Amino acid sequence: MPHPSRRTFVKHIGAAAGAGLLFGAGPAATGAAESAAGQVRFARSIPIARAYDVVVCGGGPSGCAAALAAKREGLTVLLVEGQGQLGGMATSGMVSQWLGGRNQKGEWVVGGLFRAIAEEAASRGYALLPKLDPAKKYHPFGWFNWFIHGVPIDPYGVARFLDEKMKAFGVDVLLLTQAADVLVDENRITHVVAFNKSGLTAIPARAVIDATGDADVAARSGCEYVKGDDEDGLMTPATLEFHVSHVDEEKLTCYIENQRDPKLRNKIRELRAAGVWPFPYDIFICTQLTHPDTFYVNTIRLVGVDGTDGGSVTEGMIRGREEIEKLVAILREHVPGFEGARLKAVAPLLGVRETRRIVADSTMTVRDLSEGKEFPDTIGFSMYGWDLPDPKKPSVQPFATDDASRGYRYTVKKGLNTPLPYCVMVPRPIRNLVCPGRAVSVERQVLGPVRVMAPCMAMGEASGIAARQVVGVGAAFSEVDVPQLRQRLREVGAIVDESALPEIAPRVDQS
Ligand SMILES: Cc1cc2nc3c(=O)[nH]c(=O)nc-3n(C[C@H](O)[C@H](O)[C@H](O)COP(=O)(O)OP(=O)(O)OC[C@H]3O[C@@H](n4cnc5c(N)ncnc54)[C@H](O)[C@@H]3O)c2cc1C
Repeated sequence: MPHPSRRTFVKHIGAAAGAGLLFGAGPAATGAAESAAGQVRFARSIPIARAYDVVVCGGGPSGCAAALAAKREGLTVLLVEGQGQLGGMATSGMVSQWLGGRNQKGEWVVGGLFRAIAEEAASRGYALLPKLDPAKKYHPFGWFNWFIHGVPIDPYGVARFLDEKMKAFGVDVLLLTQAADVLVDENRITHVVAFNKSGLTAIPARAVIDATGDADVAARSGCEYVKGDDEDGLMTPATLEFHVSHVDEEKLTCYIENQRDPKLRNKIRELRAAGVWPFPYDIFICTQLTHPDTFYVNTIRLVGVDGTDGGSVTEGMIRGREEIEKLVAILREHVPGFEGARLKAVAPLLGVRETRRIVADSTMTVRDLSEGKEFPDTIGFSMYGWDLPDPKKPSVQPFATDDASRGYRYTVKKGLNTPLPYCVMVPRPIRNLVCPGRAVSVERQVLGPVRVMAPCMAMGEASGIAARQVVGVGAAFSEVDVPQLRQRLREVGAIVDESALPEIAPRVDQS
């Protein structure tokens, strides 16, 4: 993959602004056609906003944790989020279940901010911490009794809760604002160029945390990245999530128990044979949210969407809404428990599982995990499986387990406790940029356990703490004193040592 050349978006920077964010149009941009490249050069002067120690781009799980952690370290922090609310996939994407942070007994595998946020959200009714009944074979929070404990959330409550958290910690937030570009000088980002209704603004930053999920900032600052499968560049299908209310949970659970068919594969086979099921996937996944009659449906599989291509994402949203309308009608007519179901909400943000991954000095591989490699720079763990759907066969998910005899494609020596090394978040060559979340430097199959939201929060928290050294002593993120970072993480309740983990869980399925 050719690396994008580093660009300077803002050619002329105006005088520094006083206190407070300053927005407003500068002189009109000038452009001169460069017909040979099919491109036009764009240059304008734009206002400089207030300077921050840390600008966090993207307010999803990794970005929110990063912003809170950096602020807790005493830094000034601005969190820039493209949507109108914080929470990322959990709220705007309506993937309303935080996975990967607890084992099947409900014990915490991700501590620190994730645990604190999940427990407080649950105490205020914005989240649930389900306790599984071992006597029950299927439960509506993922259906399998060995399913790793998710934390279902109410996306509206959590968005509000995150607003409150940012305010309480003193994190400044800009919603409906894109991190559009960067200014780079000698391998350091000097400004994040943000765009919102006020126009373009240059925000001076000493450290930048790229939590966009798509490595937008890393790509725009000239960092190395890869995208999709090594051979053909294909990426796992996208999903437009939706919520339905008025589901009869008892009836649905009873049906699934009787049929022993939690993903409705037999039902879908019947419906396809009868000409009722028109979709190119044979899988149905739904999970109960905080109210027993409300489920999120994670089923639509949009093959061929590129989450870094504006046109492709638009097409995915439109195709997704069309499929949701058909799917809800089929559920109401054919699936027990859904007869009275009502479409409650469709996500305003497309569910993109995979796009760019940065290339760090070190990349975590399938082999590393199969061989149980130790990572001395571990900053957290994930308790989740390897479930990235196949780009061409959307119903196929290659699972991992610690038991080779099950015949899964991967075996993982240490069970499902996947370590999260610090080094996979550090892009090159930009010195003051770190990239927590789903764009980390791992082989794409390893994304399965790493990309779910609790480990993303663990990575975000570590990034925010690491930023203190970058801002304080002017180190690069690659030069951060990792033992000191790990010690600080222990102090704030994060789990960074294998010895602190609860016992290893067995296998896992789906997201
Ligand atoms: C369909 C689907 C189902 C999934 N199921 C589950 C599940 O059940 N449980 C689970 O835990 N995980 C699940 N995952 C995985 C998980 O949701 C994501 O991998 C995780 O949210 C990644 O966290 P993040 O912080 O890296 O990015 P995101 O959650 O994607 O957050 C990134 C944020 O950055 C913002 N942003 C992006 N670009 C810019 C920009 N240039 N400027 C400003 N803001 C920007 C976005 O609006 C977004 O709010 C699922 C993912 C998908 C797509």
